[in-house]
Formats: sequence, structure tokens, C-alpha cells
Amino acid sequence: MDLALAEARMAGARGEVPVGAVLVLNGEVVASAGNRTRERNDVTAHAEIEAIREGCRIIGDERLPGADLYVTLEPCTMCAAAISFARLRRLYYGAEDPKGGGVDNGVRFFSQPTCHHAPEVYSGFSAQAATDILKQFFAEKR
Ligand SMILES: [Zn+2]
Repeated sequence: MDLALAEARMAGARGEVPVGAVLVLNGEVVASAGNRTRERNDVTAHAEIEAIREGCRIIGDERLPGADLYVTLEPCTMCAAAISFARLRRLYYGAEDPKGGGVDNGVRFFSQPTCHHAPEVYSGFSAQAATDILKQFFAEKR
């Protein structure tokens, strides 16, 4: 999660909403990423999607069963769907996102009957640090 927080800080330094994600397989970091939606003019370039995309490219598969994703903020619905489609084993996230989350808030994607693979979900890791990074970012924007 420390690496995910570092990715979040780097995203913030690029002017992106500071969220970071790290993909781990067999105890090794396969990919890490931060938000790049502004840089890429791509609304799908969330940290989670970037990490999954990079991980799939490196592993050479469209699915990553057995892989775990660490994210600083509760994933949105789009990312929750990508996590499900990629068949990730576990999701560890930091802060809850009552406004934009899709895991424990909003549509609760993994609990829907249309969700065909749900990872194990663990939350609250470095939640305060993740929240502080976001708060500081938006405070500086005002
Ligand atoms: Zn997302």
C-alpha cells in the first residue's frame, strides 16, 4: 500500500486526482500506476485500469486470477467491473469513497447478480494517508 500511496502522490504532482494502484502476483509487484485521465484525455485511465492493463500486457493474458490489487481509494463502478472481468483474487483499498465508490458504496458492483466474479475485498488500509493526500490535493485546487 505504500507503493500505491507513492503512485497517488505522483499522480497529484502531475495534476491528476491522486489515486494510486499496485498489482501484485505471487508476492511480486507486476504493475503500479496512478491516475492519468488528464494526461491521456481518457476517462478510463483510472489508476486501477492502468495497473490492470499493464499487468495483463506483462503477463500476456486478459485475466489475472491469483493477482491482488492495492488501491488507495475505493474503486468506482467502472474499475470494480474491470477488477471482476480480470478475475482478480483480492482487492485491498484504502479510503472509502461515499461519493464515487462502487464497491461498498453506490451500486456495490460485486454484490450484484450480474457480477460473475467477485474478489475478496479488504478495506481501510492506510485510509487516513489516502484521505489526506486527496484532501490536500483538492484544498490546493481551490
Ligand atoms: Zn475507477
